[in-house]
Amino acid sequence: MGSLAKDNIDVDFLVVGAGPAGASLAAFMAQNGLKGMVIARASGTADTPRAHVFNPFALETLRDIGLEKDAIGHATHGEMFQSFRWARSMVGEEYGKVQAWGAHPRSMGELARASPCKYLDLPQSHLEPIIVRYASSKGFQFRFSTQLVGIEEIPNSGDSLCTVRDLISQHEYRIRAKYVFGADGSRSKVAQILGLKYLAEPRPGVACNILFKADIGHLIPEERYAGLHIIVQPDNFIGMASLLRLIRPWNEWILVCNFSEEDNRFSNVTPQSPEIVDLIHKAIGDDTVEVEVTRLDPWTVNESVAETYSVKGRNIFILGDAAHRHPPAHANGSNTCVQDAYNLAVSSHKLPRS
Ligand SMILES: Cc1cc2nc3c(=O)[nH]c(=O)nc-3n(C[C@H](O)[C@H](O)[C@H](O)COP(=O)(O)OP(=O)(O)OC[C@H]3O[C@@H](n4cnc5c(N)ncnc54)[C@H](O)[C@@H]3O)c2cc1C
Repeated sequence: MGSLAKDNIDVDFLVVGAGPAGASLAAFMAQNGLKGMVIARASGTADTPRAHVFNPFALETLRDIGLEKDAIGHATHGEMFQSFRWARSMVGEEYGKVQAWGAHPRSMGELARASPCKYLDLPQSHLEPIIVRYASSKGFQFRFSTQLVGIEEIPNSGDSLCTVRDLISQHEYRIRAKYVFGADGSRSKVAQILGLKYLAEPRPGVACNILFKADIGHLIPEERYAGLHIIVQPDNFIGMASLLRLIRPWNEWILVCNFSEEDNRFSNVTPQSPEIVDLIHKAIGDDTVEVEVTRLDPWTVNESVAETYSVKGRNIFILGDAAHRHPPAHANGSNTCVQDAYNLAVSSHKLPRS
């Protein structure tokens, strides 16, 4: 490293991570007039849709900073989304359909009483840029391709000296921060540095998101609209638990395949493998459709929570997946990330700073 003094940066608030948790925290702090910096190891915002169901309570927090309309503009909502459908394939026999996410007459009234907002299908790849744009326009600085390497405590100050690496130049420098927030996801370096412990359920399984393009709007009349198409083909690998999910009407989709950890069927395939296109054709129920597979994203379904979100005497806190990891059912992942950020930002407003 060159001269430390020359390379030092001083900030009140350093947020590690620019996913739903970190970007939202910066946005809500910025709304409260606070300034700081966000670093993220990734080179940009989420490049795949990942989490998508955005609940009314998370949307309320965006409403608070004037981003509700933006979010709705990038989302699918209403009839196109508010139901689950069980079927042999998209065009095959339909076994059942239920209204969901506030659409059932019984829950409509309850939801209207509980929140002015509604459920949206807002893929993470569309959510994150909205929030990052807001936070950076309000004075929070974002440094992507920048990895947290270590944190030292500065004695008698409560401040932290964070070593970070620019992943483009490989140059390391230091950031002195009064408060550090670890929004650095499920393998949190911040939590590791603090030595935080997690309570964990046995892993519920693994999943692979198959992102693909296929123009199939002509196969989807209104009666087939649904937020999740649960494909039931017990005689095929896609079996009981594969989900077909619309990303952008009507040509961008995800097939989420859930399977057990012992199953290595996805270990040797690439987006070009014929068996992947075959799976998609089976899920659609039409093998004449032109399909372009753009990504395979294996991910682990986790259920765990940190025993504590900070350590006594240190001004360092964790949030989002760094603090709690949820199985995707009920969409608690990115919704709780945004809500954690909102609660923390409200508290941060009261913190002493320079
Ligand atoms: C492939 C995939 C598919 C998914 N699909 C679904 C789904 O279908 N439904 C669902 O509900 N959830 C899904 N999830 C989970 C959902 O994406 C997470 O719950 C959510 O992203 C958590 O947000 P977060 O901000 O806490 O962390 P993340 O989104 O993981 O963001 C972490 C941030 O920290 C940064 N970072 C990490 N380490 C460092 C470091 N050392 N230094 C600096 N920066 C660092 C990263 O670059 C990133 O910016 C999926 C996740 C993945 C990976």
